[in-house]
Order: sequence, then C-alpha cells, then structure tokens
Amino acid sequence: MGIKVVKFGGTSLADANQIRKVQKIICADEERCYVVPSAPGKRIASERKITDLLYLCHAHVQQNVPIDEVFQIIIDRYLDIVRDRDVSIDLEPHFDDIKKKISGGASADYTASRGEFLIGLVLAALLGYDFVDPFEIIFFNKYGKIDIERTQAETNRRLLKHRKAVIPGFYGCAHDGKIKTFPRGGSDITGSIIARGVHADVYENWTDVSGLLMADPNVVDNPRPINTITYRELRELAYMGANVIHDETIFPVREAGIPVKIKNTNRPDDPGTLIVRDTGTVTHTGTITGIAGRKNFTIIVIERAFLNTEIGYGRRLLSVLEVNGVSFEHMPSGIDTISLVIADSQLDNKLDKIIQEIKSECMPDSTEVYPNMALIATVGRGMAFTPGIAAKLFDALGEKNINIRMIDQGSSEINIIIGVETDDFELAIQAIYSAFVE
Ligand code: ADP
Ligand code: ASP
Ligand code: MG
Repeated sequence: MGIKVVKFGGTSLADANQIRKVQKIICADEERCYVVPSAPGKRIASERKITDLLYLCHAHVQQNVPIDEVFQIIIDRYLDIVRDRDVSIDLEPHFDDIKKKISGGASADYTASRGEFLIGLVLAALLGYDFVDPFEIIFFNKYGKIDIERTQAETNRRLLKHRKAVIPGFYGCAHDGKIKTFPRGGSDITGSIIARGVHADVYENWTDVSGLLMADPNVVDNPRPINTITYRELRELAYMGANVIHDETIFPVREAGIPVKIKNTNRPDDPGTLIVRDTGTVTHTGTITGIAGRKNFTIIVIERAFLNTEIGYGRRLLSVLEVNGVSFEHMPSGIDTISLVIADSQLDNKLDKIIQEIKSECMPDSTEVYPNMALIATVGRGMAFTPGIAAKLFDALGEKNINIRMIDQGSSEINIIIGVETDDFELAIQAIYSAFVE
C-alpha cells in the first residue's frame, strides 16, 4: 500500500462544515495516512484567522492588556467544531494551560503554534488517528534553519511506528529546546518535511482553489488551472507571489522526487495541479506556465560611464548594502548602469543613508530612485530558447501604456521579471495573461 501525506490549509479547517469535507476526503483513501493541519482560517473574508488571534493575544500581553476577550473567541471557535462534529475530546485543560502560559509571557512562536496544536488534537480524536507533536520530530539548527538529518531520521523513526497519525503544521523544536514556528503559511513546509521523512508516494496539499492557477484569481477573472508544473517553475511562481503554496515547500520533496498535488477541498474531483521534476523535453514551446507578482519594491538605478570595465565596482556597491544589513532581489546591469531592486521591508528607513554611501563609495555619475515598484514574473519552461516571447510580453504592456522600469531574464530562461509602477500592477498582469492565454 502506498503512503500519502495530506496537508489541509486554514480555510479547509475553518469550521465544522469544512472539517466534514476534510474527514470525507481522508476516509475516501486508505493511503492518506499522515495528516498535517493548519490552524483554522477565516470562515468569511472579514474574519481573523486563529493564528492572527493568537498573535494578537501575544501583542496584548506585551502591552499589559488582558487577553480574556480575544482568547474566548479562540475557545469558541474550537468548541463549535468539537460540538458540531461530536468529537470526544476535552479541550478545557489545554485551553487553561495555554491561556496561563500566554498570559505569563510565553514567546510569540509558542503562542502562534497553539492554533495548529489544538486543531491537531481535535482531528486526531475525530479520525481515530494517533497524535504526534512536531516538537518531537522537527528540529531547527542554531541558524534557525531545518536540521535536515536529525529531522529526517526522527520523522522516519517515529512516524513509521504509527500507521496513521495527525501531525500539526507550522512548528517544531528550536536549537534551544523551545518551540519555533516556520514563516507564515509554513504548514505547507511541515507537510513536505513529513512526506520526505516517511518516503511518501505523494504529498497532497488541500486548499480552497483547484490547484495552482495561471494567475492570482484575485487579479485575473477565472484564470486557467495549471495541470502539471515542475518544482523549479513552482518555486519561481510561489516566491513571486502565487502564495497558494509556500515557496520553500518544494525543497524536501524535490530531493526525494516526491510529487506534490494541489487539490481543492471544496471540489475534490477537480484534477488540481501536479508538481514534478523537470520533465526534460518541452513539447509546448512558446507557451507560458504562469504569472505572479509582488508589490512594495524600490529600484535604485546607478549610472557611471564605463562601469562595465571597472574592476570591483559591483563589489563596492553591494558592500554598501551588506554594511547596512540589506539584501537585494535583483541586480540587472547594462554597459553604464546597474539597477538594485530591493524589497521595501528590507530598506526600512535606510534608503537615504544607503544613497549617501553609494555616492561616496561608488561615485556614480547619477543615482535615480524609483519607489512604489511592483515586480511581475512570467514563468514557463516552454519559454526557454523561444524567440519572440519577450517581444510579445513588451507589446502587451506597451498597448496598455505601461512603463517598464526594469527587465531581468534569469539565465535559466524560464523566467522574465519586469518592474512596473505599483498602480499598473493589476493591469500589467491582466495584459500579459490576455496576450499569452486568451
Ligand atoms: P491555505 O489556507 O489552504 O494554505 P492559502 O490562502 O495560503 O490557502 O492559499 C490559497 C489562496 O492563494 C487562494 O485562495 C488564492 O486566493 C491565492 N492565490 C494567489 N495566487 C494564486 C495562484 N496563482 N493560484 C492559485 N491561488 C492563488
Ligand atoms: N497558521 C499559520 C499561518 O496562518 C501557518 C499556515 O497556515 O500554514 O500562517
Ligand atoms: Mg497557505
């Protein structure tokens, strides 16, 4: 019998009705042995996720504000599920313990992790599966990265003793023995680590859309689903904003060649998206796989005559960023220009200082700063070595009068990234989508 690891996202576990669907999906296939849940998400758009409420509790404690009201909302959401699905579990001792610890100043990571912990207990009781705490099997090293060897050995050793188990997503054990969470959306990564650890045949990631779509459905009306995509393409799209799955998810499964399926909890019969290794031959040249984008970047353009012949110029420029503790996203260059594309979250209030230091250290002829930029990636293995793709993309944007501030084509040729004004973001994605898909 094969082994499937199944991860369910927050919307799939948002209430009793969603959990009924999840239970049906799990019970429909004997191979769905290991279940990784996220904390319950939003039932309606205006609501807050359990994880957000937990972070709010932590913030309240920092400000000496009582958490009773917020914590009661959390309690009620779990109790609604337990009552409605008739789960035989007593959560009260857990609520008491968690509330006491949060009120007593527990860390943000501990606090946030309790959303997954509690729903894990509920699901295990509902399904009759064993509960395995990821704190005992997922380990981070002293740099805050996953300790792959230890985690793999422990997930394998511990989980294969259980024929069926629920393992909460989003957290593990830090180097200092305390709870540590992954970045937001990180239950996707937990699922991937578990799939690797148990040598799963497939990692199913269940969410609220029928797979990875060719563009964000909040930007393009009814985008087409992607049937098959390679790990590399997925990483590019996920990193650039297709946040249906966390971009770091692919690393554990890719090494072992475990395929990932993205499926829709609300429409389980839809085919979804299959993520696989590079398939080698590309039969559909000239096509794109998907488009994704992110806002909130600043582009600094540095101009200096004969910059291309000057030894060490790039190093001097980048050392200004290094000294200021800032990383950059892209650095396209021309004969006399270099552009630095930097996420605003990196820049903080350091922009003026960085510009001053670039002027004194690198003596450019001119420096231009473009704030409010958005990056858009057009990705596809079918684009590689196909002439005319870039021209088609630029024509589509030109027709809509969209100004392109930056162009960067990865050397793998599966990705063209452009920088546009934030105000043009949606229009640009729609224009590219129409040019290539409709
Ligand atoms: P989950 O709670 O299941 O982890 P997420 O909210 O993290 O789900 O991710 C699913 C959401 O990702 C979708 O509802 C959709 O709005 C958004 N999304 C953004 N870009 C894409 C894309 N290219 N394809 C599919 N969904 C996307
Ligand atoms: N619950 C966490 C979050 O909201 C992790 C996850 O959903 O994957 O970010
Ligand atoms: Mg998610």
